[in-house]
Amino acid sequence: MVTDSPKTLADWQALAATLNLETRAFIDGEFVPAVSGSTLTSINPATGETLAEVASCDTADAERATQVARAAFESGAWSRCDPGKRKRVLLRLAELVNAHRDELALLDTLDMGKPISSSQGDVAGTVACLRYQAECIDKLYGEVAPTGDGALGLVLREPMGVVAAIVPWNFPLMMTSWKIAPALAAGNSVILKPSEKSPLSALRLAQLVQEAGIPPGVFQVLPGYGHTVGKALALSMEVDCLAFTGSTGVGKQLMQYAGQSNLKRVFLECGGKSPNIVFADCQQLDAVAQSAAAAIFHNQGEVCIAGSRLLVENSIREDFVARVVKAAEQMQPGDPLDPNSFMGAMVDEAQYQRVLDYIRLGVSEGAALKLGGEASASKGYFLPPTIFDNVTPEMRIGREEIFGPVLSVFGFDSEEQAIALANDSDYGLAAGVWSQDIDRIMRVSRRLQSGQVYVNNWAGVDQTVPFGGVKQSGNGRDKSLHAQEKYCEVKTVWMSLSV
Ligand code: NAD
Repeated sequence: MVTDSPKTLADWQALAATLNLETRAFIDGEFVPAVSGSTLTSINPATGETLAEVASCDTADAERATQVARAAFESGAWSRCDPGKRKRVLLRLAELVNAHRDELALLDTLDMGKPISSSQGDVAGTVACLRYQAECIDKLYGEVAPTGDGALGLVLREPMGVVAAIVPWNFPLMMTSWKIAPALAAGNSVILKPSEKSPLSALRLAQLVQEAGIPPGVFQVLPGYGHTVGKALALSMEVDCLAFTGSTGVGKQLMQYAGQSNLKRVFLECGGKSPNIVFADCQQLDAVAQSAAAAIFHNQGEVCIAGSRLLVENSIREDFVARVVKAAEQMQPGDPLDPNSFMGAMVDEAQYQRVLDYIRLGVSEGAALKLGGEASASKGYFLPPTIFDNVTPEMRIGREEIFGPVLSVFGFDSEEQAIALANDSDYGLAAGVWSQDIDRIMRVSRRLQSGQVYVNNWAGVDQTVPFGGVKQSGNGRDKSLHAQEKYCEVKTVWMSLSV
């Protein structure tokens, strides 16, 4: 039975006190310690306190899990079962996630510091993703090729085999669902490697997978570090596909591992430095400024599609930046368990220090600090919204992915200059265009080198549209029918007919 969600900070704290954390790996349908017995420490970044000691898997665990996954795939219990059955089981999993939504949201907030309201949104997104991909299972058809009379050419979609999903910590459960829902729906065996910084919701999900009735070995979870168990999965000859979300640097390593092993497919969803372009003709500047601030400060700026480069037409820049500053002043970090907090804590000390280093760099590079800067909280890794104006393309704060609450504002004088500035990046994940001129919107949208372009909004989302990047932001597409198709191999069956 689904009950009402907690409403206050005290309600969430009370629920947190009742949690019973699963900390072991999930292999072959059972929860087990790592073969080595090693653990890693999961901390709550809002308090610095230890949450749990979680199994830290390694090569031996990866070898076992890949063998189990292969055997489960070959058995056909999931890969060749009636698609209607796969659909029913995945829909059941969606309902179980929905029924346990508060607990799952809480695990992500405790583990990585994001505000509880954001985690609740992530769980709702996870349920929607599971439902959508489950519903697609019996709606994706093969093809009959337009051959001549003497032959029948069938084009079949088949599951690939063993998929290893390696995911980051910024949206732990939701990024997981974007990989596992379409991969499982297509009939693959899936091994999930959550980030070492946020493994708890993945392990709770494994319990729900068991309850939903997914056969043993079809879904497994290996918590642990990237350079140990992640690398072992990426180099494994038993893994047919790597589905990765994370940094561009690690994405490049995964392509090398694929080349060193079995040429497994590698789908990458990587970083970004996304431009958000505001033209002087746009109206309702306060609402636009509010959206521009939320585009970077949502989830403490730890968002792949953060609108981290704000490009503003110079004729309105001074006025517009003042409005963004005013909006951002209301977005100060607070207790992640407080439903009113817009920002929470940075994921850990390393990320906190990295962002602080970028803020100091921005000052030394000569950008104009308009808001924020140094941290003030005495405990936990909290950073304020920070805004730099007068940023130029040579400055590192304007080029590199900071992955924190730091906005770089650039000025421009013409449409051509705006497009050139926007595309002057190694990345191509998201871009925004704010204007009332439909001709301009179409011209600019077509020329932006970006996986998605948001027109008069930021981060409009739905399960029906694909999500992914171009250039060094990656090559895969999550969500929509395209996601399920990418976890299938296309096979031709050519039949000669006697005529
Ligand atoms: P990361 O690349 O450090 O780690 C991502 C995952 O890869 C983790 O599970 C990690 O353990 C694993 N890993 C690290 N080294 C590995 C190795 N050598 N072999 C195998 N696995 C390895 O990224 P992060 O810090 O967890 O996440 C932040 C990054 O993710 C940012 O760059 C952000 O833009 C990106 N991201 C992209 C999207 C998208 O959809 N494009 C979404 C969310 C986050």
